[in-house]
Amino acid sequence: MQPTLNDIRGHVVVVMAPMGSGKGTIVTQALAKYPNLKHTISCTSREKRPGEVDGEQYHFVTIEKFNHMIEQGEFLEWATFAGNKYGTLKSEIVPRLVDCEVVIVEIELQGVEQLLKLLPRAHMTIVYIEAGGWEILRARACARAPMSDSELHARHERYLIEQLAKPIADVIIDNSGDLAYAHTQFDQVIQIAFSKCK
Ligand code: 5GP
Repeated sequence: MQPTLNDIRGHVVVVMAPMGSGKGTIVTQALAKYPNLKHTISCTSREKRPGEVDGEQYHFVTIEKFNHMIEQGEFLEWATFAGNKYGTLKSEIVPRLVDCEVVIVEIELQGVEQLLKLLPRAHMTIVYIEAGGWEILRARACARAPMSDSELHARHERYLIEQLAKPIADVIIDNSGDLAYAHTQFDQVIQIAFSKCK
């Protein structure tokens, strides 16, 4: 029988952060420090950026395939963000939560809202990473990978909505200057999550 959400014993650390906030670095460091910490790889219909590898940052799929996967019920949650679809596969997260593991998911607000309806609150910590205003974030993100004006516009719209939703987070991490402190704050979140899974 397939494991279901009723059987979960683990903990989800939900990371919500605008582009350019440095969330990738913070999450990567935590994964390197805690070998038992798990990380879901989402599916997306967006184009690969330079340096991205299928199966590492994302499972890159066509929009047709993504839509088919939605019909097949393969996603725990999914959303359209800045013109592309993104989704967390049930197969990436449910078995791990049933096995009492700590799992990091990096998702945007619509996905967070879906998880809030699906998962018991005691099994979930929501972290928002902030790192300054839009101009700073935009410059950081564009230095990593150039974006069209229309994509930037769409991401800006989402940024304005998401930053208003900050109060949804249990922990807000400030990554606007002191990177070491931001890492320490995230580290504490992970340690607490592990302590809840004993
Ligand atoms: P990016 O294109 O910059 O990699 O991601 C755009 C946004 O989609 C980010 O806020 C990222 O966290 C979010 N995202 C990535 N994977 C998922 C997912 O599986 N579900 C949802 N809802 N959002 C996701």
